[in-house]
Amino acid sequence: MATKFLLPEDGIPTSWYNVAADLPTPPPPPLHPGTLQPAGPDDLAPLFPMGLIMQEMSTEPTIEIPDEVREIYRLWRPTPLLRARRWEKALGTPAKIFYKYEGISPAGSHKPNTAVAQAWYNKEEGVTKLTTETGAGQWGSALALACQLMGMECLVYMVKVSYYQKPYRRSMIRVWGGEVIPSPSDTTECGRAILAKDPDSPGSLGIAISEAVEVAVKRDDTHYSLGSVLNHVTLHQTVIGQEALAQMEMADAYPDFVVGCVGGGSNFAGIAFPFVGENLKKGKKTRCIGVEPAACPSMTKGLYAFDYGDTAKFTPLLKMDTLGHDFVPPGIHAGGLRYHGMAPMVSHLHQLGLVEARSVMQTEVFDAGISFSRSEGIVPAPESNHAIAVVRQLAEDCRQSGEAKTILFNLSGHGHFDMAAYDNYLDGKLEDYAYPEEKIKEAMKNLPKV
Ligand SMILES: *Cc1c(COP(=O)(O)O)cnc(C)c1O
Repeated sequence: MATKFLLPEDGIPTSWYNVAADLPTPPPPPLHPGTLQPAGPDDLAPLFPMGLIMQEMSTEPTIEIPDEVREIYRLWRPTPLLRARRWEKALGTPAKIFYKYEGISPAGSHKPNTAVAQAWYNKEEGVTKLTTETGAGQWGSALALACQLMGMECLVYMVKVSYYQKPYRRSMIRVWGGEVIPSPSDTTECGRAILAKDPDSPGSLGIAISEAVEVAVKRDDTHYSLGSVLNHVTLHQTVIGQEALAQMEMADAYPDFVVGCVGGGSNFAGIAFPFVGENLKKGKKTRCIGVEPAACPSMTKGLYAFDYGDTAKFTPLLKMDTLGHDFVPPGIHAGGLRYHGMAPMVSHLHQLGLVEARSVMQTEVFDAGISFSRSEGIVPAPESNHAIAVVRQLAEDCRQSGEAKTILFNLSGHGHFDMAAYDNYLDGKLEDYAYPEEKIKEAMKNLPKV
C-alpha cells in the first residue's frame, strides 16, 4: 500500500495547501475601490488581521495550521469519506461514487473550517470581537461557534427576511453566545439611512455586509470576517481535499472527477485544489467541476472582470467570474449559492482551464438530492444537492458507456434547517428559472471601468 498522502495519526492535515504556489501565473491582486490601484496589506488592515492578509497574498506552497486550530478541528475532523454503494446500485451505474461529508461539523457544514482559523488569527493580534453578515444563517452560526471556542465576542447582521423566516440558525448563534441583529438595523449609519428611506426593507446580503464592515472599521478591538470568496478562506478549506486524498488512497481509489457546489466557491476549492495540485505537479488528470444554480450562473454565464464584492461598493475590487455587483438574486432556495461573484482563485483556475463549471435547474437539484437521500439516508443541504445533480449526470454517462469512472464529491452540509425548501419541492411548488441573458448584459454595463 502506498503512503504518499499519509496524514498524522489523528488523520488531520498539519498544513493548508496553497494552490497559488503551483500555478503558472498568480491571480491578479485586488484593487483599492477608491484609487483602482492594487490594494496593499495596509488597505486591508482595518478589516482583517495581518496573519490572514499575508495568507491572502501568499505564494508559499503550504501554511502550517496553528496547534490550537488543529485541536479544535479534532472536534469533528477528519470528516468521513463514504462510498455511496446503495445509491450506485439504485442508479444502475458502474461508476464508483465517493463523498466527503462535511455535515458532521457542529454547525452542519464546512464553514467552521475557516471560521475557527479566522477567529484564531484575529485573537492572536488582540482583536476581541468579530462582526459578519449572514443570509440564511450558516456562516453566522459557524462564526459564533468559532468565537465561542476562542473566547471572543461575535456580532452577526442577519438579513431581516431570513431572521424572521429562518429562526433556528438565529437560535444557534445565540446558543453559542453570539449577538444577532436583523439587518437593516438602527445600530449603524448605513442601516439607519436605509430604514429612513424604506422602513420595511427586507434587507440583503449587500446591506448586511455594509453594516458589519461599518462596525468593524469604527472600532480598534473589532474586525470583520468573511465566510467565502477570499483566498484565505479557500486556503483553510483545503483540509477537506487533503483528507480526501489520504482517505481515497486507503480505499485504493483515485478520482476521475471531483465535484462540488459553488456559491462563493470555498467548499469546492477545499475539495478540488489539492487534486488540481496533483494534476499540476504529477500530471494526474482529474476533472474538477464546480456546480452552480442556473438562477445564479456566475461561472457559466458571467464575465471574468474586476468587480465590487458588495452592492454598496465598499469592498476592494476583485477579478472574478461575476454577474455584476447589482445582481438581484431570484428567490431560489439554495440560499448559500446566491452571491453575484466567485472566489478570485476559483475564477482564475477556471480561466486557466484547470477547473470546469456546470449549471443546473433547481427541480433537477432537489430530485437528485432526494434520490441520494433515499439510498444513503443523509438529507443534504439544498446547496450540496447541486453537486449531487451533476454526480448523477456523470453516473448516468457511465451507465450508458459502461465505463467504471471514480467520482468524488463534497457533501458540504446537511439540510436539517432547510426542510421547508424540501416541502416546497415535494408539494410541486418549485419552478425552474434560468437567469436571463438580457439581465446579465445589462449588469455588465455597470461593471467598474478598470
Ligand atoms: C455556504 C454554503 C455553501 C456555499 O458556499 P461556498 O463558499 O461556495 O462553499 C455550500 N454548501 C453549504 C452547506 C453552505 O453552508
